[in-house]
Amino acid sequence: MASKTPSAVRGTLDVLPKDSYKWQYVERVLMETASLFGFSEIRVPVFENTDLFQRSVGDTTDVVNKEMYTFEDKGGRSITLRPEGTAGTVRSFLEHGLYNEALPVKACYVLSCYRYEKPQAGRLREFHQFGVECFGAPSPVADAEVIAIPYLAFERLGIKNIQLKLNSIGCPECRAKYLEALREFFSSKKDELCETCNERLIKNPMRILDCKSPVCSKIAEDAPKMLDFLCDDCKEHFETLKSLLDAQNIPYVIDPTIVRGLDYYTRTVFEFVSTDIGSQGTVCGGGRYDGLVSQMGGPYTPSLGFAMGLERLIMVMESQGCEFEPDEPIGIYIAPMGQAASVKALKLCFDLRQEGFSAITDTVGRGLKAQMKYADKIGAKFVLVLGDDELEKGVASLKNMKNGEQTEFDLNNGVQSFYDAFMASAYAEMENSVEKGI
Ligand code: ATP
Ligand code: MG
Repeated sequence: MASKTPSAVRGTLDVLPKDSYKWQYVERVLMETASLFGFSEIRVPVFENTDLFQRSVGDTTDVVNKEMYTFEDKGGRSITLRPEGTAGTVRSFLEHGLYNEALPVKACYVLSCYRYEKPQAGRLREFHQFGVECFGAPSPVADAEVIAIPYLAFERLGIKNIQLKLNSIGCPECRAKYLEALREFFSSKKDELCETCNERLIKNPMRILDCKSPVCSKIAEDAPKMLDFLCDDCKEHFETLKSLLDAQNIPYVIDPTIVRGLDYYTRTVFEFVSTDIGSQGTVCGGGRYDGLVSQMGGPYTPSLGFAMGLERLIMVMESQGCEFEPDEPIGIYIAPMGQAASVKALKLCFDLRQEGFSAITDTVGRGLKAQMKYADKIGAKFVLVLGDDELEKGVASLKNMKNGEQTEFDLNNGVQSFYDAFMASAYAEMENSVEKGI
């Protein structure tokens, strides 16, 4: 080889053609689940003006302080690759005046995110999130529905052992008293806290509860709990939410240490955590952000959402042996022998494709034996061998690869011939599964 082959940027992953069915299946189930709750897809840009993230995600967070991919474009603007989906969605909600529409506005997405983190299992620099945002829904019924989306999605994907952790971090009023209490508590343990937590103590002491260092999290165990500081309204919201989760038979545990990594949350915060994939076990996190839309210059719009890490989700599914619905198998492989047959095969394939059947022919110049091997490898349901003889007679033999049955194939009426064989085989398979009681 002449020169060194290129390699991927650290912390990024490829999804290869042989594995993409897993991603497509997972994304399909997730988006379909969201649509059962009335959510529709939103697509926002990969990059935004940097200050969007500074203002929304918050400049006391790790995401903004340490992890953003920020660069100057050729016009001298500061641009950032999105580290999450909420900020862009809120911007779009405002920019397009969606607050004038019938509320709530319900948006869902699958998008790539970029964070400059130390790559390890379940932690990448480019990763993917499925998420929803629900704008203009103050009722705890909205919280109970938004939490039910990942719960139902996990159920539909066959995922087990995933725990819902729930907390309330109150509103700015009741939280102010709590922050005071936290500051007092952590000030006496200042010397033991990590350097970052000493900064957090000044800027936003609640962040200390989210610290990954074992020393800090041990100290945090005895810290005052936000739940003891909730005002009456926040308390009522939380109690109602719990009863609405009970009503849907969605189990949860209250975890006062859940504060979430982003600044904009109010009241409800939650995470779905798996114990099957090691320390990066938080598959999904979300909560209410009642103040964010107005903080970004819009009308007061109580809102909420969540984001789910797809790499982590797929890791959990693989570790639990969950099944991924495979791609539809290839309908037919047409094996030509000779120049004229090759032209006929190409034409037949195209006719079939026009009718929505997948059809493959030789593009390599393989001999018949090698073609049969290849047809088997790609899992073609039917194989048709075309030689001069067949062309002359206008008839070939169509082989069902599953049961070996051969049927006559009329080359002058190829689409109809294939349709008949395809339907007959689909019908036989259906009868078979009814007999087996599947
Ligand atoms: P963590 O505490 O693990 O760093 P986070 O609080 O930063 O997570 P969020 O910003 O809430 O994560 O993002 C929602 C979800 O996105 C996470 O629960 C996780 O599944 C996924 N996620 C976040 N960062 C990464 C990453 N660097 N690589 C892969 N997935 C990630
Ligand atoms: Mg993080």
